[in-house]
Amino acid sequence: MSSHLESTTVTGGALPPLLLKPQEERRLQAGHLWIFSNEVNVAATPLTTFAPGEHVQVRSSHDRFLGYAYVNPRTLISARLLGRDPAYPPGKSLLVHRFKVALALRQRLYAAPFYRLAFGEADLLPGLVVDRYGDVLVAQIGTAGMEAMKSEILEALVQVIDPQAVLWKNDSAIRELEGIERYVETAFGQVPDMIEVPEGGVTFRVPLAAGQKTGWYFDQATNRALVARHARGARVLDVFSYAGSFGLQAARAGAVEVSCIDSSASALEAAAETATANGLEAELLKGDAFDMLEALHDDRRKFDFIVVDPPAFIKRRKDHPKGLAAYRRLNQLAMQLLDRDGLLLSCSCSYHLAPGELTDSIQRASRQLGRFAQLIAVGAQAPDHPVHPAIDETRYLRAFLFRVIDSC
Ligand code: SAH
Repeated sequence: MSSHLESTTVTGGALPPLLLKPQEERRLQAGHLWIFSNEVNVAATPLTTFAPGEHVQVRSSHDRFLGYAYVNPRTLISARLLGRDPAYPPGKSLLVHRFKVALALRQRLYAAPFYRLAFGEADLLPGLVVDRYGDVLVAQIGTAGMEAMKSEILEALVQVIDPQAVLWKNDSAIRELEGIERYVETAFGQVPDMIEVPEGGVTFRVPLAAGQKTGWYFDQATNRALVARHARGARVLDVFSYAGSFGLQAARAGAVEVSCIDSSASALEAAAETATANGLEAELLKGDAFDMLEALHDDRRKFDFIVVDPPAFIKRRKDHPKGLAAYRRLNQLAMQLLDRDGLLLSCSCSYHLAPGELTDSIQRASRQLGRFAQLIAVGAQAPDHPVHPAIDETRYLRAFLFRVIDSC
Protein backbone atom coordinates (compact mmCIF):
# COMPACT_ATOMS: atom_id res chain seq x y z
CA MET A 1 0.00 0.00 0.00
CA SER A 2 2.90 2.35 0.70
CA SER A 3 3.60 3.00 -2.99
CA HIS A 4 0.26 4.79 -3.32
CA LEU A 5 0.90 7.06 -0.43
CA GLU A 6 2.57 10.37 -0.63
CA SER A 7 4.15 10.66 2.70
CA THR A 8 5.79 8.11 4.91
CA THR A 9 6.01 10.25 7.99
CA VAL A 10 4.81 8.35 10.98
CA THR A 11 2.89 10.67 13.24
CA GLY A 12 0.30 8.19 14.41
CA GLY A 13 2.41 7.04 17.31
CA ALA A 14 1.59 10.31 18.99
CA LEU A 15 -2.14 9.68 18.93
CA PRO A 16 -3.80 8.79 22.23
CA PRO A 17 -4.79 5.15 22.73
CA LEU A 18 -8.33 3.80 22.90
CA LEU A 19 -8.19 0.54 24.79
CA LEU A 20 -10.67 -2.24 24.18
CA LYS A 21 -11.96 -4.72 26.74
CA PRO A 22 -10.71 -8.32 26.55
CA GLN A 23 -11.96 -10.22 23.45
CA GLU A 24 -13.49 -7.10 21.92
CA GLU A 25 -10.91 -6.93 19.14
CA ARG A 26 -12.40 -9.96 17.39
CA ARG A 27 -15.00 -8.18 15.27
CA LEU A 28 -12.42 -5.62 14.13
CA GLN A 29 -9.99 -8.37 13.25
CA ALA A 30 -12.73 -10.06 11.22
CA GLY A 31 -12.96 -6.90 9.12
CA HIS A 32 -15.55 -4.69 10.79
CA LEU A 33 -14.80 -1.00 11.31
CA TRP A 34 -17.05 -0.04 14.20
CA ILE A 35 -16.37 0.01 17.92
CA PHE A 36 -19.36 0.23 20.22
CA SER A 37 -19.17 2.05 23.53
CA ASN A 38 -19.60 -1.15 25.59
CA GLU A 39 -16.47 -2.61 23.95
CA VAL A 40 -14.19 0.15 25.19
CA ASN A 41 -12.20 -0.18 28.40
CA VAL A 42 -13.60 3.05 29.74
CA ALA A 43 -11.83 2.68 33.07
CA ALA A 44 -8.46 2.96 31.28
CA THR A 45 -9.52 5.24 28.41
CA PRO A 46 -12.76 7.07 29.28
CA LEU A 47 -14.63 8.05 26.14
CA THR A 48 -15.57 11.38 27.68
CA THR A 49 -11.95 12.50 27.55
CA PHE A 50 -12.08 12.56 23.75
CA ALA A 51 -13.45 15.37 21.66
CA PRO A 52 -15.95 14.41 18.95
CA GLY A 53 -13.94 13.40 15.89
CA GLU A 54 -10.62 13.04 17.69
CA HIS A 55 -8.15 10.52 16.26
CA VAL A 56 -6.94 7.60 18.35
CA GLN A 57 -4.95 4.40 18.08
CA VAL A 58 -7.18 1.48 18.88
CA ARG A 59 -5.42 -1.13 21.02
CA SER A 60 -6.51 -4.55 22.22
CA SER A 61 -6.58 -5.56 25.88
CA HIS A 62 -3.11 -7.03 25.25
CA ASP A 63 -2.02 -3.60 24.04
CA ARG A 64 -1.79 -4.69 20.40
CA PHE A 65 -2.21 -1.97 17.79
CA LEU A 66 -5.42 -2.63 15.83
CA GLY A 67 -5.74 0.51 13.75
CA TYR A 68 -6.39 4.23 13.66
CA ALA A 69 -9.89 5.49 14.29
CA TYR A 70 -11.91 8.57 15.02
CA VAL A 71 -14.00 8.79 18.15
CA ASN A 72 -17.37 10.24 18.98
CA PRO A 73 -18.16 9.91 22.69
CA ARG A 74 -21.80 10.95 22.05
CA THR A 75 -22.83 8.08 19.79
CA LEU A 76 -23.48 4.36 20.23
CA ILE A 77 -20.81 3.66 17.62
CA SER A 78 -18.07 5.28 19.63
CA ALA A 79 -15.26 4.89 17.10
CA ARG A 80 -14.80 3.95 13.44
CA LEU A 81 -11.61 2.54 12.04
CA LEU A 82 -9.87 4.59 9.33
CA GLY A 83 -6.86 2.38 8.67
CA ARG A 84 -4.96 -0.61 9.95
CA ASP A 85 -1.43 0.17 8.80
CA PRO A 86 0.55 1.78 11.63
CA ALA A 87 2.67 3.66 9.09
CA TYR A 88 -0.33 5.57 7.71
CA PRO A 89 -2.21 7.64 10.26
CA PRO A 90 -5.39 9.54 9.41
CA GLY A 91 -4.67 12.55 7.22
CA LYS A 92 -4.56 13.80 3.69
CA SER A 93 -2.20 11.07 2.38
CA LEU A 94 -4.46 8.31 3.59
CA LEU A 95 -7.48 10.04 2.05
CA VAL A 96 -5.66 10.48 -1.28
CA HIS A 97 -4.90 6.78 -1.24
CA ARG A 98 -8.50 5.86 -0.43
CA PHE A 99 -9.89 8.11 -3.18
CA LYS A 100 -7.45 6.66 -5.73
CA VAL A 101 -8.49 3.13 -4.87
CA ALA A 102 -12.19 4.10 -5.00
CA LEU A 103 -11.74 5.91 -8.31
CA ALA A 104 -9.97 2.91 -9.86
CA LEU A 105 -13.04 0.73 -9.20
CA ARG A 106 -15.43 3.23 -10.77
CA GLN A 107 -13.20 3.81 -13.79
CA ARG A 108 -13.11 0.09 -14.32
CA LEU A 109 -16.90 -0.24 -14.18
CA TYR A 110 -18.24 2.97 -15.72
CA ALA A 111 -17.71 4.43 -19.18
CA ALA A 112 -18.53 7.99 -18.09
CA PRO A 113 -17.61 9.88 -14.89
CA PHE A 114 -21.08 9.79 -13.31
CA TYR A 115 -21.17 7.61 -10.21
CA ARG A 116 -20.84 7.41 -6.47
CA LEU A 117 -17.13 7.87 -6.08
CA ALA A 118 -16.96 6.98 -2.41
CA PHE A 119 -19.47 4.94 -0.44
CA GLY A 120 -18.53 5.29 3.22
CA GLU A 121 -17.51 2.16 5.09
CA ALA A 122 -17.57 0.07 1.91
CA ASP A 123 -14.72 2.21 0.55
CA LEU A 124 -13.01 2.29 3.95
CA LEU A 125 -14.10 5.90 4.35
CA PRO A 126 -16.56 5.59 7.24
CA GLY A 127 -19.06 8.41 7.32
CA LEU A 128 -18.24 9.91 3.92
CA VAL A 129 -20.11 9.76 0.65
CA VAL A 130 -18.99 11.49 -2.56
CA ASP A 131 -20.95 11.55 -5.81
CA ARG A 132 -19.35 12.53 -9.09
CA TYR A 133 -21.11 14.39 -11.90
CA GLY A 134 -18.31 14.83 -14.39
CA ASP A 135 -16.27 17.77 -13.08
CA VAL A 136 -18.61 18.47 -10.17
CA LEU A 137 -18.46 16.58 -6.89
CA VAL A 138 -21.11 16.46 -4.17
CA ALA A 139 -19.79 15.28 -0.83
CA GLN A 140 -21.81 14.32 2.21
CA ILE A 141 -20.34 13.90 5.65
CA GLY A 142 -22.32 11.92 8.20
CA THR A 143 -20.04 11.78 11.25
CA ALA A 144 -18.15 14.13 13.55
CA GLY A 145 -14.96 12.24 12.68
CA MET A 146 -15.22 13.02 9.00
CA GLU A 147 -16.38 16.57 9.73
CA ALA A 148 -13.11 17.10 11.61
CA MET A 149 -11.20 16.06 8.47
CA LYS A 150 -13.20 18.28 6.14
CA SER A 151 -10.29 20.36 4.85
CA GLU A 152 -8.09 17.31 4.21
CA ILE A 153 -10.99 15.60 2.41
CA LEU A 154 -11.36 18.59 0.12
CA GLU A 155 -7.62 18.80 -0.57
CA ALA A 156 -7.46 15.08 -1.32
CA LEU A 157 -10.46 15.26 -3.66
CA VAL A 158 -8.96 18.20 -5.51
CA GLN A 159 -5.68 16.34 -5.86
CA VAL A 160 -7.17 13.06 -7.08
CA ILE A 161 -10.09 14.27 -9.24
CA ASP A 162 -9.14 17.86 -10.13
CA PRO A 163 -12.83 18.90 -10.13
CA GLN A 164 -14.23 22.25 -11.18
CA ALA A 165 -16.53 22.46 -8.20
CA VAL A 166 -17.28 20.66 -4.96
CA LEU A 167 -20.49 20.99 -2.92
CA TRP A 168 -20.82 20.01 0.73
CA LYS A 169 -24.32 18.57 1.02
CA ASN A 170 -24.04 18.15 4.75
CA ASP A 171 -27.73 18.28 5.57
CA SER A 172 -28.70 14.71 6.47
CA ALA A 173 -30.66 14.13 9.65
CA ILE A 174 -28.10 11.66 11.06
CA ARG A 175 -25.75 14.59 11.69
CA GLU A 176 -27.91 15.64 14.61
CA LEU A 177 -27.18 12.37 16.42
CA GLU A 178 -23.48 13.04 15.85
CA GLY A 179 -23.81 16.52 17.32
CA ILE A 180 -22.81 18.33 14.14
CA GLU A 181 -24.71 21.07 12.34
CA ARG A 182 -26.59 20.59 9.12
CA TYR A 183 -25.67 22.85 6.21
CA VAL A 184 -25.20 23.01 2.45
CA GLU A 185 -22.25 25.07 1.18
CA THR A 186 -19.93 25.37 -1.76
CA ALA A 187 -16.57 23.91 -0.85
CA PHE A 188 -14.74 24.83 -4.01
CA GLY A 189 -15.37 26.47 -7.40
CA GLN A 190 -18.80 27.34 -8.77
CA VAL A 191 -21.46 24.73 -8.19
CA PRO A 192 -24.24 24.86 -10.82
CA ASP A 193 -27.87 24.83 -9.58
CA MET A 194 -28.77 22.08 -12.03
CA ILE A 195 -26.61 19.31 -13.38
CA GLU A 196 -27.06 16.98 -16.33
CA VAL A 197 -26.82 13.24 -15.73
CA PRO A 198 -26.70 10.95 -18.77
CA GLU A 199 -28.28 7.57 -18.09
CA GLY A 200 -30.13 5.04 -20.23
CA GLY A 201 -30.10 7.25 -23.31
CA VAL A 202 -31.71 10.16 -21.45
CA THR A 203 -29.97 13.33 -20.29
CA PHE A 204 -31.56 14.05 -16.94
CA ARG A 205 -31.62 17.50 -15.39
CA VAL A 206 -31.40 17.40 -11.61
CA PRO A 207 -31.08 20.10 -8.97
CA LEU A 208 -27.95 19.83 -6.81
CA ALA A 209 -27.94 22.10 -3.74
CA ALA A 210 -31.75 22.26 -3.75
CA GLY A 211 -32.22 18.60 -4.69
CA GLN A 212 -32.72 15.47 -2.63
CA LYS A 213 -29.81 13.72 -0.94
CA THR A 214 -26.72 14.17 -3.13
CA GLY A 215 -28.77 14.90 -6.27
CA TRP A 216 -29.14 11.63 -8.12
CA TYR A 217 -29.94 8.13 -6.89
CA PHE A 218 -27.01 6.37 -8.53
CA ASP A 219 -27.74 3.24 -6.49
CA GLN A 220 -30.77 2.41 -8.65
CA ALA A 221 -28.96 2.69 -12.00
CA THR A 222 -28.76 -1.06 -12.65
CA ASN A 223 -32.41 -1.55 -11.68
CA ARG A 224 -33.45 1.28 -14.00
CA ALA A 225 -31.63 -0.54 -16.82
CA LEU A 226 -33.48 -3.73 -15.87
CA VAL A 227 -36.82 -1.94 -16.15
CA ALA A 228 -35.89 -0.32 -19.47
CA ARG A 229 -35.06 -3.76 -20.87
CA HIS A 230 -38.63 -4.92 -20.34
CA ALA A 231 -40.47 -1.64 -20.98
CA ARG A 232 -41.07 -1.77 -24.73
CA GLY A 233 -44.76 -1.50 -25.52
CA ALA A 234 -45.75 -1.26 -21.85
CA ARG A 235 -47.86 1.24 -19.94
CA VAL A 236 -45.43 2.11 -17.15
CA LEU A 237 -46.19 3.62 -13.74
CA ASP A 238 -43.20 5.01 -11.83
CA VAL A 239 -44.23 5.47 -8.19
CA PHE A 240 -41.91 7.68 -6.08
CA SER A 241 -40.39 8.80 -9.34
CA TYR A 242 -38.20 11.68 -8.14
CA ALA A 243 -36.92 13.26 -11.40
CA GLY A 244 -38.57 10.57 -13.55
CA SER A 245 -35.49 8.38 -13.38
CA PHE A 246 -37.20 5.02 -14.01
CA GLY A 247 -40.13 6.32 -16.05
CA LEU A 248 -38.28 8.43 -18.57
CA GLN A 249 -35.73 5.70 -19.25
CA ALA A 250 -38.66 3.35 -19.85
CA ALA A 251 -40.12 5.95 -22.24
CA ARG A 252 -36.81 6.10 -24.08
CA ALA A 253 -36.82 2.29 -24.28
CA GLY A 254 -40.21 2.23 -26.01
CA ALA A 255 -42.89 2.30 -23.30
CA VAL A 256 -46.19 3.40 -24.86
CA GLU A 257 -47.34 5.37 -21.84
CA VAL A 258 -45.44 6.62 -18.80
CA SER A 259 -46.91 8.05 -15.59
CA CYS A 260 -44.80 9.31 -12.70
CA ILE A 261 -46.00 9.92 -9.14
CA ASP A 262 -44.08 11.97 -6.60
CA SER A 263 -45.05 14.31 -3.78
CA SER A 264 -42.22 16.74 -4.56
CA ALA A 265 -43.09 19.56 -6.96
CA SER A 266 -39.43 20.29 -7.69
CA ALA A 267 -38.73 16.62 -8.51
CA LEU A 268 -41.59 16.63 -11.02
CA GLU A 269 -40.44 19.96 -12.45
CA ALA A 270 -37.06 18.38 -13.10
CA ALA A 271 -38.83 15.41 -14.72
CA ALA A 272 -40.84 17.78 -16.93
CA GLU A 273 -37.71 19.63 -18.03
CA THR A 274 -35.96 16.36 -18.77
CA ALA A 275 -38.91 15.04 -20.77
CA THR A 276 -39.08 18.19 -22.91
CA ALA A 277 -35.33 18.39 -23.48
CA ASN A 278 -35.23 14.73 -24.54
CA GLY A 279 -38.40 14.70 -26.64
CA LEU A 280 -40.17 12.27 -24.29
CA GLU A 281 -43.67 12.27 -22.85
CA ALA A 282 -44.87 11.43 -19.38
CA GLU A 283 -47.91 12.09 -17.25
CA LEU A 284 -46.67 13.72 -14.05
CA LEU A 285 -48.86 13.22 -11.00
CA LYS A 286 -48.08 15.21 -7.87
CA GLY A 287 -49.35 13.91 -4.57
CA ASP A 288 -49.06 11.30 -1.87
CA ALA A 289 -48.32 7.97 -3.51
CA PHE A 290 -50.81 6.03 -1.40
CA ASP A 291 -53.64 8.47 -2.26
CA MET A 292 -52.67 8.61 -5.91
CA LEU A 293 -52.63 4.83 -6.25
CA GLU A 294 -56.13 4.70 -4.77
CA ALA A 295 -57.30 7.45 -7.10
CA LEU A 296 -55.90 5.62 -10.13
CA HIS A 297 -57.71 2.51 -8.98
CA ASP A 298 -60.97 4.46 -8.64
CA ASP A 299 -60.40 5.70 -12.20
CA ARG A 300 -59.97 2.07 -13.33
CA ARG A 301 -56.52 2.77 -14.71
CA LYS A 302 -54.30 -0.23 -15.52
CA PHE A 303 -50.58 -0.57 -16.14
CA ASP A 304 -48.31 -3.27 -17.52
CA PHE A 305 -45.23 -2.37 -15.51
CA ILE A 306 -45.18 -0.67 -12.12
CA VAL A 307 -42.09 0.44 -10.21
CA VAL A 308 -42.37 1.29 -6.53
CA ASP A 309 -39.28 2.89 -5.06
CA PRO A 310 -40.31 4.57 -1.80
CA PRO A 311 -38.08 6.47 0.61
CA ALA A 312 -36.91 4.36 3.56
CA PHE A 313 -40.00 3.63 5.67
CA ILE A 314 -37.79 1.97 8.31
CA LYS A 315 -34.96 4.33 9.18
CA ARG A 316 -34.41 2.87 12.63
CA ARG A 317 -35.14 -0.55 13.98
CA LYS A 318 -37.96 0.77 16.15
CA ASP A 319 -39.84 1.90 12.99
CA HIS A 320 -40.00 -1.71 11.79
CA PRO A 321 -43.65 -2.65 12.56
CA LYS A 322 -45.09 0.56 11.11
CA GLY A 323 -42.72 0.49 8.16
CA LEU A 324 -43.48 -3.13 7.29
CA ALA A 325 -47.20 -2.31 7.31
CA ALA A 326 -46.52 0.57 4.90
CA TYR A 327 -44.55 -1.66 2.50
CA ARG A 328 -47.38 -4.20 2.57
CA ARG A 329 -50.06 -1.63 1.87
CA LEU A 330 -48.06 0.06 -0.84
CA ASN A 331 -47.36 -3.13 -2.74
CA GLN A 332 -50.99 -4.15 -2.54
CA LEU A 333 -52.17 -0.77 -3.82
CA ALA A 334 -49.69 -1.01 -6.69
CA MET A 335 -50.58 -4.60 -7.56
CA GLN A 336 -54.25 -3.65 -7.84
CA LEU A 337 -53.33 -1.48 -10.81
CA LEU A 338 -51.39 -4.17 -12.65
CA ASP A 339 -53.05 -5.56 -15.73
CA ARG A 340 -52.91 -9.27 -16.63
CA ASP A 341 -49.36 -10.66 -16.59
CA GLY A 342 -48.02 -7.30 -15.48
CA LEU A 343 -44.57 -6.70 -14.02
CA LEU A 344 -43.92 -5.16 -10.61
CA LEU A 345 -40.50 -3.94 -9.52
CA SER A 346 -40.71 -3.51 -5.77
CA CYS A 347 -37.82 -1.72 -4.07
CA SER A 348 -36.80 -0.84 -0.54
CA CYS A 349 -33.81 1.11 0.68
CA SER A 350 -34.55 0.26 4.33
CA TYR A 351 -31.69 -1.84 5.65
CA HIS A 352 -33.97 -2.99 8.47
CA LEU A 353 -36.47 -4.54 6.05
CA ALA A 354 -35.19 -8.07 5.44
CA PRO A 355 -35.34 -9.14 1.78
CA GLY A 356 -37.73 -11.96 2.70
CA GLU A 357 -40.10 -9.48 4.33
CA LEU A 358 -40.42 -7.55 1.09
CA THR A 359 -41.05 -10.65 -1.04
CA ASP A 360 -43.52 -11.80 1.59
CA SER A 361 -45.40 -8.47 1.33
CA ILE A 362 -45.84 -9.08 -2.36
CA GLN A 363 -46.86 -12.68 -1.86
CA ARG A 364 -49.52 -11.58 0.67
CA ALA A 365 -50.79 -8.87 -1.66
CA SER A 366 -51.12 -11.36 -4.48
CA ARG A 367 -53.13 -13.76 -2.31
CA GLN A 368 -55.35 -10.97 -1.08
CA LEU A 369 -56.09 -9.96 -4.66
CA GLY A 370 -56.57 -13.55 -5.77
CA ARG A 371 -53.50 -13.46 -8.01
CA PHE A 372 -50.19 -15.26 -8.30
CA ALA A 373 -46.82 -13.48 -8.16
CA GLN A 374 -43.64 -15.02 -9.56
CA LEU A 375 -40.23 -13.63 -8.71
CA ILE A 376 -38.30 -13.34 -11.99
CA ALA A 377 -35.30 -11.17 -11.14
CA VAL A 378 -33.49 -9.88 -8.08
CA GLY A 379 -31.83 -6.47 -8.32
CA ALA A 380 -29.22 -4.93 -6.09
CA GLN A 381 -27.54 -1.61 -5.47
CA ALA A 382 -25.30 -0.58 -8.37
CA PRO A 383 -21.59 -1.46 -8.09
CA ASP A 384 -20.59 2.12 -7.26
CA HIS A 385 -22.27 1.28 -3.93
CA PRO A 386 -20.10 -1.71 -3.04
CA VAL A 387 -20.94 -3.87 -0.05
CA HIS A 388 -18.52 -4.29 2.83
CA PRO A 389 -19.11 -7.99 3.53
CA ALA A 390 -18.45 -7.59 7.25
CA ILE A 391 -20.83 -4.63 7.58
CA ASP A 392 -24.29 -5.77 6.64
CA GLU A 393 -25.69 -2.21 6.83
CA THR A 394 -23.83 -1.43 3.57
CA ARG A 395 -26.12 -3.92 1.77
CA TYR A 396 -29.33 -1.95 2.04
CA LEU A 397 -31.08 -1.82 -1.32
CA ARG A 398 -33.64 -4.50 -2.20
CA ALA A 399 -35.29 -4.76 -5.60
CA PHE A 400 -37.49 -7.64 -6.70
CA LEU A 401 -39.06 -8.01 -10.11
CA PHE A 402 -42.28 -10.01 -10.09
CA ARG A 403 -44.65 -11.08 -12.80
CA VAL A 404 -48.19 -11.09 -11.50
CA ILE A 405 -50.69 -13.31 -13.21
CA ASP A 406 -54.37 -13.87 -12.59
CA SER A 407 -54.83 -16.78 -10.24
CA CYS A 408 -55.11 -20.23 -11.70
N1 SAH B 1 -37.10 6.32 -7.97
C1 SAH B 1 -36.20 7.44 -7.77
C2 SAH B 1 -35.84 7.67 -6.33
C3 SAH B 1 -36.98 7.79 -5.39
S1 SAH B 1 -36.56 8.50 -3.86
C4 SAH B 1 -34.93 7.25 -8.60
O1 SAH B 1 -34.65 6.14 -9.06
O2 SAH B 1 -34.23 8.24 -8.78
C5 SAH B 1 -38.10 8.62 -3.11
C6 SAH B 1 -39.03 9.68 -3.70
O3 SAH B 1 -40.27 9.59 -3.02
C7 SAH B 1 -38.59 11.11 -3.53
O4 SAH B 1 -38.55 11.73 -4.78
C8 SAH B 1 -39.66 11.77 -2.65
O5 SAH B 1 -39.99 13.10 -3.08
C9 SAH B 1 -40.82 10.87 -2.87
N2 SAH B 1 -41.80 10.75 -1.79
C10 SAH B 1 -41.58 10.65 -0.46
N3 SAH B 1 -42.73 10.43 0.20
C11 SAH B 1 -43.72 10.39 -0.74
C12 SAH B 1 -45.12 10.16 -0.68
N4 SAH B 1 -45.74 9.92 0.47
N5 SAH B 1 -45.80 10.15 -1.84
C13 SAH B 1 -45.18 10.38 -3.02
N6 SAH B 1 -43.85 10.58 -3.13
C14 SAH B 1 -43.13 10.59 -2.00
